[in-house]
Amino acid sequence: SQDRAVNFGAGPSALPLFALQEAATNLLNFQNTGIGIAEISHRAKEFTGYLAELEARIRKQLDVPPTHKIIFTQGGGTGQFSAVVYNLLARHRLLYPDLADDERRLEYVLTGNWSLKAVEEARRLCTGPRGVGGDVKVVVDARTFSKDGKSFDNIPPHAEYQFSPYTTSSLVHLRTRPPPPALIYYCENETVHGVQFSEDLKSPQSFPFGLLFPPDSDNEEGGGNQPLLPLVGDYSSSFMSRPIPRLADHAVIFAGAQKNLGPAGLTIVIVRQDCLVDAEAAAKLGAAPIPVTLAYKTIADSNSVYNTPSVFAIYVAGLVVENIEKEGGLAHYEQVNRRKKEKLYGVLKEGEEAGVLRRKVQEGSESWMNVVWEVLGQDGLVSKELEQKFLDGATQRGMLSLKGYRSLGGIRASIYNAVTESDVERLVAYIEEFTQAEK
Ligand code: PMP
Repeated sequence: SQDRAVNFGAGPSALPLFALQEAATNLLNFQNTGIGIAEISHRAKEFTGYLAELEARIRKQLDVPPTHKIIFTQGGGTGQFSAVVYNLLARHRLLYPDLADDERRLEYVLTGNWSLKAVEEARRLCTGPRGVGGDVKVVVDARTFSKDGKSFDNIPPHAEYQFSPYTTSSLVHLRTRPPPPALIYYCENETVHGVQFSEDLKSPQSFPFGLLFPPDSDNEEGGGNQPLLPLVGDYSSSFMSRPIPRLADHAVIFAGAQKNLGPAGLTIVIVRQDCLVDAEAAAKLGAAPIPVTLAYKTIADSNSVYNTPSVFAIYVAGLVVENIEKEGGLAHYEQVNRRKKEKLYGVLKEGEEAGVLRRKVQEGSESWMNVVWEVLGQDGLVSKELEQKFLDGATQRGMLSLKGYRSLGGIRASIYNAVTESDVERLVAYIEEFTQAEK
């Protein structure tokens, strides 16, 4: 482990040493079964027991209520771009069988590359003569509020979200407004653009829960109960880095494991029970059939072993969660991650004041996990040459994978849980040194 570099990669990304060492041993012999973890049957009781325990541990860390199931699947975040469309359109069909396709709205909050990919997939699936129906709408486009009018560099303020008004009344003759949309979608942390919703619900850059769940819900049935809205959150790159605000109000939260949780190949989905829909019943009412590997109910009913799951990735995720527990749980990681990003953004601000660096994201919208900036030349413009010099210097100092996303350029430091505070301090010291040398 002495010769391991600090890995600032965006995913797959750094894993804690404890998990890697433990996994190495168990690759040869899993829990004294005599069989390695990559060779054991997913139906062996040692493995199903391990999976059930992992479920319970994640449930505890994130405080997931009994109203929600946690399922383990494959296909990545990208698979979930499709899965949410199929499952939630089927749910909508069961709830509101009489609506026309174009009355089934799918409302997307657009804040970066990954929410854009989700919108594109929804449009691809919904549109055309063989499409599954549904009207895909962007309810706010963050580019409108950017510094240059075209980049994803911010989380828009609450007043700018154009969610459609809805009623949750099931009594058709009482409806003065349409029923809720089939889904409402946001990406909590945009891994490429480095923008993230604030965890502080009083901040204008938090997710606008108040707009969706008015405190005095004018739900015509009265009663003041919060409606069950189909709110979907892509948590791929922030899952397990800090608690999830208002988790219980979400219909679906999903994440690929390959950032804070484990190796690639595992996708975790937290699904509210009313979204575990009977696909056949929905299909009888005209909904599109759901591909079986994407059907939440099928996966949940089989405790995530309907087909062969990614056994090894699940195993390593279990070790990572064990490590999180040992370190003091999510509350501990929240504190450490807060300090890490404050130190890094602090030194970037100094580099900016010296005219050497430029932070790409507007204040208040900065990601805790993916920190993005540019390197400037004497003329104040982005310099590819100096950027390369910065990267080369980092490599010499044992810090790797700092190059920005392929189509965007610039520098990106992903500081997930397994990147320690002292790793970040090493980067901070180097940025200081670079700033002094170049200013
Ligand atoms: N959403 C976010 C926020 C991501 O960062 C990524 C991948 N980096 C994805 C979705 C897509 O995930 P996958 O590559 O696992 O399909």
